[in-house]
Amino acid sequence: MIVGVHPLAGFDRLLHYRVPETLHATVQAGSLVRVPVLNQLRLGVVGEIGAPKDFPVERLKLVAQVVHPFPALTPDLLKLAQWMAGYYAAPLDGIIETMIPAAVRSGAGIKEEKLLSLVRPLADEEAVALAKRAPQQAKLCAFLAQQYRPQRKALVLQRLGATAAVVAALVKRGLVREETRRVVREAYADDWAGGELAASTPPRLNAEQAAAVAALGRKIEEEKFGVSLLHGVTGSGKTEVYLHAIDQALKSGGGVIFLVPEVALTPQTVARLRSRLEAIAPGHKCVVWHSHLSEGERLDGWLALAAGESRVVVGARSAIFAPVRDLRLIVVDEEHEPAYKQDETPRDHGRDVAVYRAKLNRAHCLLGSATPSLESYANARVGKYGLLELKQRVDDRKLPHIDVVDMRIEIMRSRGPTSLSQKLVRAMQDRFEKREQTILFINRRGYSSAMLCSDCGHVEECAHCSISLTYHRADERLRCHLCGDERAAPLVCPKCKSPKIRWRGLGTQRVEEAVRRVVPRARIERMDTDTMSKKNRFREVLAQFRAGKIDVLVGTQMIGKGLDFPNVTLVGLVDADISMHIPDFRANERTFQLLVQVAGRAGRGDRAGEVIVQTFTPQAGAIQFSRHANYAGFSEVELKVRQDFGYPPFRHLMHHLFRGPNPEKLKFFAEQWARLVETELGTQLELRGPSPSPIEKIKDHYRWQLWYLTASVTRVIPELSRLRREFAWPDDITQVLDVDPVSLT
Ligand code: ADP
Ligand code: ZN
Ligand code: ZN
Repeated sequence: MIVGVHPLAGFDRLLHYRVPETLHATVQAGSLVRVPVLNQLRLGVVGEIGAPKDFPVERLKLVAQVVHPFPALTPDLLKLAQWMAGYYAAPLDGIIETMIPAAVRSGAGIKEEKLLSLVRPLADEEAVALAKRAPQQAKLCAFLAQQYRPQRKALVLQRLGATAAVVAALVKRGLVREETRRVVREAYADDWAGGELAASTPPRLNAEQAAAVAALGRKIEEEKFGVSLLHGVTGSGKTEVYLHAIDQALKSGGGVIFLVPEVALTPQTVARLRSRLEAIAPGHKCVVWHSHLSEGERLDGWLALAAGESRVVVGARSAIFAPVRDLRLIVVDEEHEPAYKQDETPRDHGRDVAVYRAKLNRAHCLLGSATPSLESYANARVGKYGLLELKQRVDDRKLPHIDVVDMRIEIMRSRGPTSLSQKLVRAMQDRFEKREQTILFINRRGYSSAMLCSDCGHVEECAHCSISLTYHRADERLRCHLCGDERAAPLVCPKCKSPKIRWRGLGTQRVEEAVRRVVPRARIERMDTDTMSKKNRFREVLAQFRAGKIDVLVGTQMIGKGLDFPNVTLVGLVDADISMHIPDFRANERTFQLLVQVAGRAGRGDRAGEVIVQTFTPQAGAIQFSRHANYAGFSEVELKVRQDFGYPPFRHLMHHLFRGPNPEKLKFFAEQWARLVETELGTQLELRGPSPSPIEKIKDHYRWQLWYLTASVTRVIPELSRLRREFAWPDDITQVLDVDPVSLT
């Protein structure tokens, strides 16, 4: 038996090995093995069985070891890895490595136990004879004869006070059977279960939900590849739809992957999902998959799926690589979330990988969001994806109304800079009197260095790229991060000639202080990456907030995702402008998403919610459309702009980053490279740049970047990769290619 192995050793080739007789039974495609590579044993994954014709098989080395009895990669995962390597222009071995959890790769940590059972009952005279000769052995046989199922060896020995030699003698006589079984830790029942496991009675689906579930049921039954986009307003009960679809997939004998953004993976959501799932589909253990699992827990979850003991996994991005068998359905909740994008090589997008994995399995992929990405929405509009809509909140709850406060007027009124408007202050005081809760969001996505006029709200944009220009303090210039166009920063607003130009947004700390001044007796807690460096602290604060021990929660978007607090009746967004003026063509989309999602946190209980948004540019489309969560209106306008500029979803974007210690040299090679690409591939892609990166220098390494816009990634990548190999890069310049980046900053 010959196998082709992908060694996880830093080079992209299939190497062939001979499989020794003893391993024939366990080696299959996807098996994790140890093989000699350059005189060292390295891990590898079996990519194919057999060898090319006329292959000199005599001189092949031997596979040394099989790490796991189960294949580390199912056949579809092997194909998925190959697709990713091509699409993201990333090395295959690195992708394979990320697909297999470290705990599995190490091969360690499998807990096993030995079980004993009687091979056959002893005849009476046989038992008497044995009791005379070897009383210990007889005792053990008598004990086992009374048991219905195999007994754990350790326990038996302990109870009878016997030694392992007694067992060995009985095994030798052929009276007792000893077998090894893998111990399944209660991988699922960790502290994530929380106290909410007592299954709440499932709600009855409303008409919209039922229609969506029925449509999905038909798709799942078809066993054909397809994608549905579930566009449901906040609080419309999308989760119930997911759960029913999952139930259908399980009932039809298939496996399921349920992806949620990592930030949404709070103990509460997981507990709720699991209890509901186990109520809907009794007898199904749901494996939980996230970055805080211990190695042992992850291994157990992985084994449960690989062995087919469990057919459903809930998890963050990496769960898309879980070894689920007979995959029938993949659900991607909050599909618009940038968190699905991996920020390290291979820089894959979890949602896009989900769609492709579904395709490989002829499974259905269900994408859900209140604010779908324009990429997915465009696919739904042209009929590539099915569109399912939930337009109403459950139980006739009202969507909260968004009140937009014009901060230009507020600043004139207060005769000086202020972070909280009168309206927001009064609303907070009112909630505090009523013992209702408030969430204040400070939007700190990216950094704010756009030029914003506090008198007229004007923001300087690039004429070629329709993104805001970025202020560079060092030389007081404004630059476009897409095309590199630049000019001197003006001292007065180019539109209204006012000198009141703002550069920076507000920090959470300053807002927290301002809140303390206006509601001095309220219990206030701040939640941002500075205060929340410890994971437990995050959970703790959320638990306190849920228990009503905090009146006002001040924080970044990290508190906005998937959380459901019924007593929150006021949500404030302190500075809507920051996300709107990040130098990114998705700035409007992000702002709209943020506003709608943030507003969706209010009024989830029986009381109506109020949302107050502060901005210097109240007339902006992203803000106006979000007031009534008008997704259709917003996307129509925004898609038009994207089309005019040829931005995603109409073309694909790629980002090429160059890094090096010498700025002149870096600039020179970036420009040389750009010229080469322009000459060789100019008909297939459009270049923007090269230009210095938004962060021009990190750890003494300068950074330049280049953008490509193209109609087809799959057509361009092979050519681009070839040029990258052939171009004479100096040793001190490194480069990173990012296909379909989710952020330009
Ligand atoms: P979404 O994800 O669409 O914002 P959720 O799935 O979180 O909404 O549902 C919001 C709340 O409504 C949850 O507490 C859920 O249990 C409840 N819910 C869902 N469907 C129904 C229904 N048909 N009737 C009553 N309550 C429901
Ligand atoms: Zn102005
Ligand atoms: Zn530009």
